[in-house]
Amino acid sequence: MKTAIVGYPRIGENRELKFAIEKYWRNEITENELLKIAKELRKNQWLKQKEEKISFIPGNTFSFYDGILDTIILLNAIPKHYRDLGLNELNTYFAIARGYQGEKGDVKALSMRKWYNTNYHYMVPELDDYAEIKLNSDKIFNELEEAEKLGVNTHPSVIGPFTFYKLAKTTGNKDKKDYLDDIVNAYVELLRKCNKKNIEWIQIEEPQLVTDQTEEDINLFEEIYMEILKNKKDVKVLLQTYFGDVRDCYKTITELDFDGIGLDFAEGRQTQKLIAEKGFPKDKVLFAGVVNGKNIWKCDYKKVLNILNNLKEKVKNVVITTSCSLLHVPYTLRNEKKLSENILRHFSFAEEKLSELKELGELSQILWESSLEKAQENEFYIKNQEIITSERGMEDKEVRDKVEKLTDNDFVRKGTRKERQIIQREKLNIPLLATTTIGSFPQTKEVKLNRSKFRKGEINKKEYDKNVFSFIKECIELQEEIGLDVLVHGEYERNDMVEFFGENLAGYIFTEKAWVQSYGTRCVKPPIIFGDVKRTKPISVLYSEYAQKLTEKPVKGMLTGPVTILNWSFPREDISLSEMAFQIGLAIREEVLDLEKAGIKIIQIDEAALREKLPLRKEDWHKEYLDWGLKAFRLCHSGVKVDTQIHTHMCYSQFEDIIKDIDNMDADVITFEASRSKLTILDFLKENNFETEVGPGVYDIHSPRVPSVEEIVVALEIMIEKIGKEKLWVNPDCGLKTRGIVETVKSLENLVKATEIVKSRL
Ligand code: GLN
Ligand code: ZN
Repeated sequence: MKTAIVGYPRIGENRELKFAIEKYWRNEITENELLKIAKELRKNQWLKQKEEKISFIPGNTFSFYDGILDTIILLNAIPKHYRDLGLNELNTYFAIARGYQGEKGDVKALSMRKWYNTNYHYMVPELDDYAEIKLNSDKIFNELEEAEKLGVNTHPSVIGPFTFYKLAKTTGNKDKKDYLDDIVNAYVELLRKCNKKNIEWIQIEEPQLVTDQTEEDINLFEEIYMEILKNKKDVKVLLQTYFGDVRDCYKTITELDFDGIGLDFAEGRQTQKLIAEKGFPKDKVLFAGVVNGKNIWKCDYKKVLNILNNLKEKVKNVVITTSCSLLHVPYTLRNEKKLSENILRHFSFAEEKLSELKELGELSQILWESSLEKAQENEFYIKNQEIITSERGMEDKEVRDKVEKLTDNDFVRKGTRKERQIIQREKLNIPLLATTTIGSFPQTKEVKLNRSKFRKGEINKKEYDKNVFSFIKECIELQEEIGLDVLVHGEYERNDMVEFFGENLAGYIFTEKAWVQSYGTRCVKPPIIFGDVKRTKPISVLYSEYAQKLTEKPVKGMLTGPVTILNWSFPREDISLSEMAFQIGLAIREEVLDLEKAGIKIIQIDEAALREKLPLRKEDWHKEYLDWGLKAFRLCHSGVKVDTQIHTHMCYSQFEDIIKDIDNMDADVITFEASRSKLTILDFLKENNFETEVGPGVYDIHSPRVPSVEEIVVALEIMIEKIGKEKLWVNPDCGLKTRGIVETVKSLENLVKATEIVKSRL
């Protein structure tokens, strides 16, 4: 049976592309040198895919920064202010990606947004009044020829017109609809070119279809593709979807004149059901996305063969493929030298998934030609099942039992919100308009050096901690000098919100090279939840306790919440997300109770990433996510005394649509980013009688700019008007770890001064 993949990681097995691009930006290598490295990377991928006998190898999966940005170029939709810089092609491209400041001008980058439910970020297309949409397909066909020269047959893959249109925003006076004909024509032209070059297949990706579609959306989709497919002639068009199912447009897309349809069987909850109930057209090829393109786990062949066995009756032509592009998984296991074979054998990164496809190709051939039983007798199958069913050696019965025995009471705090508020204000001596920060203070050179020395074994834990303690002491003194009311210890013992906790939790493992592109040249290396998660020892207590002993003022204990820890890790697949969240929740709960015991009176549990993983379908928001997510959060704090104050923090303020859920987290205080979208969110909180006390950030920490006293005063007065002084906290909008110390001190001094002025007027 034939195999395919949707896409491949571009960054290289050792992040070669990242380093090369960054060198190019620093003028350390020339454009030609960069192009050469990129070419080499493409070559390796293609040859690897060929070696693994992938039948459909997608071209145009390479990108110097982002695939949507490439689509902007493909459609000639470069905003005028970038073209006006007069830079060459590659530098114009990078100017769009990261902005340009130099002799030719000063322009900001396009904004970035999260790519559906992944941790990848794409550049948001901007259509200005000057945009002249037309096809510019050089990249696609150059790469196609490049592969051909290597003896690799690839087919073009592109982001489709519907998705592009839906993601784009207009910046001028024109209406978005005004661009539609030209966009469609560009794709018609692309198919025409494919025909001219005798290209057999083209893959057009429309992930937008897995989100909630209105009737209007579906009509638009239909209108676009009627026009495009009318002109397709000989080239076969594969409509590729991913990240979910196409429940509200299945009929439409199966009735249109596509030659192949790619559906996601991993995340598409209703994919199997749709095919079972509605059938699949005999004249089309189903590209069945059965190998999960997003996870890092070995594929369970049993599950896949069962799916294929069900398809056998319903679908005539099947190609086995990945559920989405492999862009979202690390490159290869080959370079993981520190983890044991016992652990590694459970994983499958991009390269290993190619091998799985090859094996599955053979197995499904047997299944197709004879029977499921026959396929299950094959050695690939037997070997696979041996691993899948083996114990991982990190099971913990105690934790599992605890999760199982959780009851509704375990998620409920003592005292009503009102009672807690009165007691806390009094006992904790918290003034009106209390000033505070989000947790981290600048990670100075000394702080980073301390950590790297410890990692390299140049200093021992004792020396390391001694240095951390001295940073904490300075930090507390600084905050007292500045005059803040509620202090923090500064988070010098961590550089990231998850790794530090993961390292102190059983069940977690860490890789050396499992990097995944987050955006452009930025990659992340999420830790992996391998077994049952359990706290093995106190994590942050030592540091918080030390900090609290240095001052009369309350110092906030600082933890990351279970949903954020989960969302920024690679999760297991053998147990549910909710079970993992509860396990992590129990661990954080132990830490919370230890902090309380150690005399910490305010504990902040950050849920920076709560909103990130909201399911793509609104109907799934609660039952698939928020219901257990909020419970896991509440599990962390439900054991504290009435007079212990619980804070949380989120990095964004676009939570209009989950406002009640945020109240349901039952924290006493929430701080969040609001400096950019101030008024709307404040109005919203007011209209919805938001109950939690709030600290909408009074200035933006993402820029080195020092906010003036006056502007903070203005911000605060608006906030008081909207929210009332009783419920308002005063703080920056996020942690200060990426800021310099000088600007931080000045900004916080202004924040305190502004608060004093406002208070004196009350
Ligand atoms: N407490 C963390 C900090 O201050 C929160 C970081 C975040 O929200 N991203 O750095
Ligand atoms: Zn934040």
